[in-house]
Amino acid sequence: MAEEPPTKRKCLGADCENDASSLQCPKCLSLGIKDSFFCSQDCFKKNWNTHKSLHKTENSILSHFFPPSVVSKPDPETGCYNPFPTFRFTGPLRPVYPLSPRREVPKSIPHPDYAEDGIPKAGRALVRSNKIEQLNVKDQEGMRKVCRLAREVLDIAAAALRPGITTDEIDEIVHKACIERNAYPSPLNYNHFPKSVCTSVNEVICHGIPDQRVLLDGDIVNLDVTLYHEGFHGDLNETYYVGERARSDPDTVRVVEAARECLEEAIKMVKPGTLIRDFGNVIEAHAKSKGCSVIRTYVGHGINRIFHCPPNIPHYARNKAVGECKPGMTFTIEPMIALGKYRDVTWPDNWTSTTIDGKKTAQFEHTLLVTETGVEILTARTPNSPGGPVPMPVVDKPQETSA
Ligand SMILES: [Zn+2]
Ligand SMILES: [Zn+2]
Repeated sequence: MAEEPPTKRKCLGADCENDASSLQCPKCLSLGIKDSFFCSQDCFKKNWNTHKSLHKTENSILSHFFPPSVVSKPDPETGCYNPFPTFRFTGPLRPVYPLSPRREVPKSIPHPDYAEDGIPKAGRALVRSNKIEQLNVKDQEGMRKVCRLAREVLDIAAAALRPGITTDEIDEIVHKACIERNAYPSPLNYNHFPKSVCTSVNEVICHGIPDQRVLLDGDIVNLDVTLYHEGFHGDLNETYYVGERARSDPDTVRVVEAARECLEEAIKMVKPGTLIRDFGNVIEAHAKSKGCSVIRTYVGHGINRIFHCPPNIPHYARNKAVGECKPGMTFTIEPMIALGKYRDVTWPDNWTSTTIDGKKTAQFEHTLLVTETGVEILTARTPNSPGGPVPMPVVDKPQETSA
């Protein structure tokens, strides 16, 4: 899970380095496209010809003003249906409802403060003040423990991935594995999120809701797991290939491995003194070298007793994030990397974030502890963790003739 970036935005104009003003493209606003900010009327006019092409790929005004009141007819065999049949989806993926009933967490397991009403309360003042906490040794130990448990849960869920399993079944596996570890699955009812894990398939950038859709050979799926245990949250995610088809598709491998490497490159920089804003420069440079783009709407975040707290960590270049790494800080880096455009469109469920062009996107996330000399990856893989890097598939090319 990730939050909105700080309010400082960049002008959308091509090659414009200015901060955005409050001027938003009115057409985008009417279409429900977020973040179309420009620095000035002039810049907006100058960019109009290229910018307007964006509107075509978006939902029609009508579908925005008249949100679907009807759902598609349930499939007679399965009883499944699309809850938003008139929504202009950006790619082939569809939600498959009904969602399963809400899963319960035993009262004996300590719940975070939002578990009941969906509203996180702790740390509100902290979030406003932008102050980055440095944990003492005892609290660091608490983070170490919850992050190790979170890794275990992610690995259990990942081991169950195969063509034919539904994302709801993954949710059930994650939910049970959390409870077995005396942990609360942090996403459950966080700002009313309905499930215990985020499952983001293909063009879904993040915050996908587990439902009745079956994973297919050729899909990629990101599992984003967060546990709350003994007062601390531990958060990680990985993107996995589903079936052999996914591993042998060059574009799919390119975006997944680019995302994996972007996180690795950023982690190499973590040590006392590194500026938070510099991570994005390294991530975007690497993504570009692989012909990919960097999602801008969602960011990494501080994490400790609070699920999402300062700092915000944008993954794109030339961002203006404040703060620097100091020993005892714990935060996530979680770059979302896309094959096509970086812009996002959210489904009417208010969670599922997809690429604007429907092309695939991948993400990796670790919770990190800044040490005196560098970094400890609290959610590090173990020798037995499923997944891991896949080599670029060799594609049959026509034989080259030598002169
Ligand atoms: Zn996460
Ligand atoms: Zn996160």
